[in-house]
Amino acid sequence: MKTGKVVIRRIRPPSGGGSLARHTVRMRWRHLAGALLLVAVAGSADRAEIRTHAEARPPVRARPVPVARRRPAVAPHPHRLVFHGARGTGLVALTFDADMTHGMWRSLDAGRIKSSYDRRIVKVLDATRTPATIFATGLWIKRYPGVTRTLAADPLLEFGDHSYEHSAFAAPCYGLPVLPRGKRTADVRRAAAVLDGHVPGHTPYFRFPGGCHDASAVRAVLAAGVTPVQWDVISGDAFGHDPHAITRTVLREARGGSIVVMHLNGAPTAPETHAALPGIITGLRSRGLRLVKVSELLAAR
Ligand SMILES: [Zn+2]
Repeated sequence: MKTGKVVIRRIRPPSGGGSLARHTVRMRWRHLAGALLLVAVAGSADRAEIRTHAEARPPVRARPVPVARRRPAVAPHPHRLVFHGARGTGLVALTFDADMTHGMWRSLDAGRIKSSYDRRIVKVLDATRTPATIFATGLWIKRYPGVTRTLAADPLLEFGDHSYEHSAFAAPCYGLPVLPRGKRTADVRRAAAVLDGHVPGHTPYFRFPGGCHDASAVRAVLAAGVTPVQWDVISGDAFGHDPHAITRTVLREARGGSIVVMHLNGAPTAPETHAALPGIITGLRSRGLRLVKVSELLAAR
């Protein structure tokens, strides 16, 4: 889709056939592999399922409700669900989700996971002067408050909300525990409150855990005064063990306006993100694309 404006893609049912549907299915399988392992790490016995499609309903305007005590650095985006920015700008946003479930927390406590923060990723970003956006769960910030404050002070980085505990906002969602419908808005606000305490002026953007959403989940997020920001490029870094494959995927699929999803967790969630990143940054820049934060991407017309 080509336009001078930020584009909201309404997900079509898979019966639609076309390349978008095939692409979506491919992406879902990739994400599924990652999510399955995440479930294993979390120690959940839930069975993973593939979500066939999300919303096909027309947009519903939500009442704007302020969420943060502190005023965010940028205003909520006027659109209700963002997948990418304007295509003609030559801008690309790299995003890093900082996942943390209660199961991951317990695995860290028990020593089954060494860390859920791969500092090598930020080292690469800093060394290459690459702006990026981190979508952090409330639990991740609580686990790494000092790291969060350090990253928040880095002018190259900005933060968005990735829910409080990485539970699903729509079911099924790869076996992630599902939030009751009535608790979704409160969960967004709870994570925002944790962000407020550590990242003053964070963005009013939200990313769905597992990417799973439907029309009512979108409304629940909008009711918290934030805009859900998804992606149009899945790097495949979740449980991907070939950094070259991750780099190739991003370079093949990214174009002007793209939002790329990666992870900040390191092994086992995303063991090779740090290794794939230099090639991604160099490759995108060599094509004349400029790497920016999501807020800059969405402000560009
Ligand atoms: Zn996530």
